[in-house]
Amino acid sequence: MIVVLKHNAPEEQVREFCAELEAMGLQINDSKGSDTHILGLIGDTKAVAESWVLANPVVDTCRRVSEPYKKANRKFHPDDTVVDVGGVKIGGGHFAVMAGPCSVECESQIVEVAQRVKAAGASLLRGGAFKPRTSPYSFQGLRAEGLDLMNKAKAVTGQPLVTELMNNEHIPLFLEEKVDMIQIGARNMQNFELLKAVGRTNVPVLLKRGLSSTLEELVMSAEYIMAEGNPNVVLCERGIRTFETSMRNTLDLAAVPMLKKMTHLPVVIDPSHAAGIAFMVPSLAQAAVAVGADGLMIEVHNNPAKAKSDGAQSLTPDQFDALMAVLKPEIEFFGKKLN
Ligand code: PEP
Ligand code: MN
Repeated sequence: MIVVLKHNAPEEQVREFCAELEAMGLQINDSKGSDTHILGLIGDTKAVAESWVLANPVVDTCRRVSEPYKKANRKFHPDDTVVDVGGVKIGGGHFAVMAGPCSVECESQIVEVAQRVKAAGASLLRGGAFKPRTSPYSFQGLRAEGLDLMNKAKAVTGQPLVTELMNNEHIPLFLEEKVDMIQIGARNMQNFELLKAVGRTNVPVLLKRGLSSTLEELVMSAEYIMAEGNPNVVLCERGIRTFETSMRNTLDLAAVPMLKKMTHLPVVIDPSHAAGIAFMVPSLAQAAVAVGADGLMIEVHNNPAKAKSDGAQSLTPDQFDALMAVLKPEIEFFGKKLN
């Protein structure tokens, strides 16, 4: 249930009302927006009579929320959430580009790519150290060494780091290595123990949509993270499985307006994994800006032909420069600020 409070509701009376609700075993999601103050009630609200709520002088209106996601629900929090990743803002009008190689391969590769993407306008550096590969015989990533190398790049460019976590046991390492944003990959979107574990950190999370997940399933996974106390979740559409075989996946652009209606969380698009082919990435990136995304994740490699993973979909630094030159005025045209 959501309870909309009156504009001038005295704080003391609001506190008393909240105490009464908590005494009934309910958890309160307090959201004070630009012009609304909403209490989102989480728990078994069946016993809470609407007439009793409405009788309280601090209450303007109340409404039952049928969706299973609560903390992520826009009805609980009408304003856009802005997630701050090491000083880089995503959401609420702030647009962020995360770029870098699929996998970190060596120091010169990650440092060179980081410098190039930073110069082109990417505020966050992506790179995979622990890689989820379909085949156990494929390159699995440099693991802990990859995180060290990303930090070497960060020392040069100052870009906050985004990298994928696949295992609860690696969380202390990720905290020690000061990973700025933890990526939960498509394959782990419903690894609920992993979601709960990152929910117990306060590190921002980039939650990628599962290969065949519905939007409600994606938002429920965000709810798992938020229910543990971490509100800093960014959703990422990265293409889904359909009957189409000419591309790696099908980019679901319609997910952006729908997710924005369902939730207040920022939504970014990863056109690289969606298309799987580099030539499509610029068009899809432009479409992502136009459809209202809050950011992009793009794979860039200094030598895509020799990349240890996802070379076919990686842009060269020159191609990334050209794309950013097109995107910058477009982002502005659509009323967002690139940071
Ligand atoms: C990646 O970002 O390199 C990756 C493996 O992404 P996804 O989980 O979307 O496949
Ligand atoms: Mn990749």
